[in-house]
Amino acid sequence: MLNFVLFGPPGAGKGTQSQKLIEKYQLIHISTGDLFRAHIKNQSSLGQQVSQLIADGQLVPDAITIAMLEEEVDKNPEAKGIIFDGFPRTVPQAQALDEFLESKGTAISGVIALDVDQDELCKRIAQRQIETGRIDDQADKLQKRIEEYFNKTVHVLPYYEAQNKLVKVNGIGKIDTIFAELSAVVDQY
Ligand code: AMP
Repeated sequence: MLNFVLFGPPGAGKGTQSQKLIEKYQLIHISTGDLFRAHIKNQSSLGQQVSQLIADGQLVPDAITIAMLEEEVDKNPEAKGIIFDGFPRTVPQAQALDEFLESKGTAISGVIALDVDQDELCKRIAQRQIETGRIDDQADKLQKRIEEYFNKTVHVLPYYEAQNKLVKVNGIGKIDTIFAELSAVVDQY
């Protein structure tokens, strides 16, 4: 299987680029943020449990997130590969993902980190807030999400660096130019 983690702060372009990658390489896209938003929309018990945390820009506890992610992977036993978007966001999540994939005889092939500076992120998210109305894109909530990113999520990078799996890609520029760079990385596997 070709399994990639698409990594980056809120607004880095993970969702946009994931869509293009799954089309080109026939992979499955699993976004934990999208899964949570679907649960909230459907008012499932999981949705009710996490909606306030997400509205506030905080991370959902690892145990809940990992269980949901594993269930989603198990729904796709025939997948040629998976793009993980927005997961893992903590080192325990990364460890759980490694163990889980290993139990299935597979592994993360590579981790692609989209590099975007903070000014550009703020501009993009302000625009997304206007377009989608996501409440966690509002300025005060966004601040919390950026804090969570720098407190907890950045530590995932050295975890994968130690495994020689980390590749950084410039996330600023035209969508298709960034996509060409991502494709060049994926083509190496
Ligand atoms: P996203 O769409 O990836 O920006 O995720 C939206 C929100 O969902 C995040 O701000 C978190 O509250 C929650 N979330 C998504 N993925 C995770 C994760 N891997 N761990 C914890 N919380 C998550």
